[in-house]
Amino acid sequence: SLRAGVLAVQGDVSEHARAIERAATAHDESAEVVEIRESGLVPDCDVLLMPGGESTTISRLIHREGIAGEIETHVAEGNPVLATCAGLIVAASDAHDDRVETLNIVDATVERNAFGRQKDSFEAPLDVAGFEDPFPAVFIRAPVIDYVGSDVEVLASWDDRPVAIRDGPVVGTSFHPELTEDPRIHDLAFFDSVES
Ligand code: GLN
Repeated sequence: SLRAGVLAVQGDVSEHARAIERAATAHDESAEVVEIRESGLVPDCDVLLMPGGESTTISRLIHREGIAGEIETHVAEGNPVLATCAGLIVAASDAHDDRVETLNIVDATVERNAFGRQKDSFEAPLDVAGFEDPFPAVFIRAPVIDYVGSDVEVLASWDDRPVAIRDGPVVGTSFHPELTEDPRIHDLAFFDSVES
C-alpha cells in the first residue's frame, strides 16, 4: 500500500485524498492517506500532495509547524510530490510575494492570481504530454508560471504559458486535477514514477 501524505494545514485536502485513492485503485493498489498538520509524519510517507487553497496561509503554517524542512528532505531523497495551484506556489523557487516563503523544490517561479480573479475561474480542455485525450483542467485564481529552469519539463501549456511541469520527482500544476474525477495527473505524478 502506498502511504500518501496530504498537506492538510489548509486547502482542498479531502479532494486530494479521494483523488489519490482513485488513482491507486486504477492501478490495483491501495493508498493509505495521512493528513499532515504537524511535523514527524512526512518522513514515513512515500508520496506527498500539496493541495490548492491559500498559499500565504499554507506557507506560514508549514514553517511554523516544522513541516517545511521535512518536505525539502522528502524531495531531496527523490520521493514524489504533486503540488497543485497554491501548493505549486509554495513549492516554487519564488512567488514574487513576501508573504509566501517558498520551498524551492521545483525550479520555477510563479505570479499569484495571474490567470484572473475568482470570478474568472474557468475549465479548459488541456493537452498534456503523453495523454491521448485532453485533460479537463479547472483553474481557480490560478498562478501563472513565469519562469522554468532548463531541467524542468513542461507537460502542458495554456495561453502559451506552462501550466503543468515536472522537475525530477515534483509535478506541479496551476490548475486543480483533484477537483475532477480524471485520475491521470495523479497517475503521472505517482504511478509512472513509483515502483510497484
Ligand atoms: N490564489 C491562491 C493563492 O495564491 C491559489 C488559488 C488556489 O489554490 N485555487 O494562494
